[in-house]
Amino acid sequence: MRSIYDLSFNQLEAQLAAWDQPRYRALQVWQSLYHDLAAAPEAITTIPTRLRQRLAAEYRFASLSRLVEAASSDGQTRKYLFALPDQHQIEAVLMGYARRRTTCISTQAGCAMGCVFCATGQMGFRRHLSAGEIVEQVLVFARELKHAGDRLTNIVVMGMGEPFHNYEATMAAVDLLNDPRGFNFGARRITISTVGLVPMIDRFAAEKRQVNLAVSLHAATDELRSELLPINKKYPLAPLFGAVRRYAGATRRRVTFEWALIQGQNDTPQQARALATLAAGLPCHVNVIPLNPTRDYTGQAATRERAAAFQAALAERGIPCTIRVRRGLDINAGCGQLATEASHPGKRLPIRNDPR
Ligand code: SAH
Ligand code: SF4
Repeated sequence: MRSIYDLSFNQLEAQLAAWDQPRYRALQVWQSLYHDLAAAPEAITTIPTRLRQRLAAEYRFASLSRLVEAASSDGQTRKYLFALPDQHQIEAVLMGYARRRTTCISTQAGCAMGCVFCATGQMGFRRHLSAGEIVEQVLVFARELKHAGDRLTNIVVMGMGEPFHNYEATMAAVDLLNDPRGFNFGARRITISTVGLVPMIDRFAAEKRQVNLAVSLHAATDELRSELLPINKKYPLAPLFGAVRRYAGATRRRVTFEWALIQGQNDTPQQARALATLAAGLPCHVNVIPLNPTRDYTGQAATRERAAAFQAALAERGIPCTIRVRRGLDINAGCGQLATEASHPGKRLPIRNDPR
């Protein structure tokens, strides 16, 4: 059965027309789902009961069933492990920091990219998520926040999976969330993170979306990057930076580079220098986060001193860099990876080795 959230507005309209419904029904259903955040067909009270029943019979309104719920001890991070109808599992996280309410969502069950330090990469690829399965993660948190009189402020596509490997569904989800008739979530408050699939960066640039782009860099020499991120063998740094520069030129937008700092690996002055050379003149920002240790990777998070030195080496060369804090560590937030909600930009925050 298809998820109701897989339908674009036009598809919903076509479906309802095929059921001989008057034209205005599509907007009623759409607004219930995405504005009023109805979680079940019974809650779509603006339409006749028989239509509710038909929708319930033919579409899935809840593809995600919650298996595990975990909250960090400071109460600021909440993570859900969901089972999909075919029993594959995905994670989604909600992080609260100051006035921000950020959800981090998944685009695939598992990931095919095999980055050595990544818990999801270590799982291997299971399957792509549909647009509806991506959107529903956001809706789950949006409904809860609404219930608490609060609302979502940011969406980061940094959960399990490589969004540019599931490009169509990811962008369909962005469009659904963007739609001013419904969820009306501004593209500028959405960030998509990619491991660096060059053709997809070009496609993304050509679409001139307002969505923010983050590129997981983690190393500034091909030798080290290929060790950490096997996809670098297919798309090495030169073509990657070519695409990133074309993106920046076409969109006039600043790119974020992600860098998980690993003790003795990518935290060296040489790597900082190489990064500064690659990024020279490019409107960009480097997000440094301490590595979150995972089961199959022996690397450790860099120390606070090394992180500060790395940041200083970049600053010297004019590359802005923020050291992020890991949040919700005690619930292993972010697929063993990405509790990287922003610290105050520019403010240096302590990095501890993993307390677990
Ligand atoms: N596949 C996309 C998005 C999901 S991963 C990508 O790779 O960009 C989100 C971010 O978490 C990426 O920057 C990724 O490199 C980082 N990450 C993965 N495992 C990590 C770990 N163990 N510690 C810190 N960051 C990690
Ligand atoms: Fe996939 Fe991103 Fe993890 Fe790499 S870091 S394995 S691309 S989820």
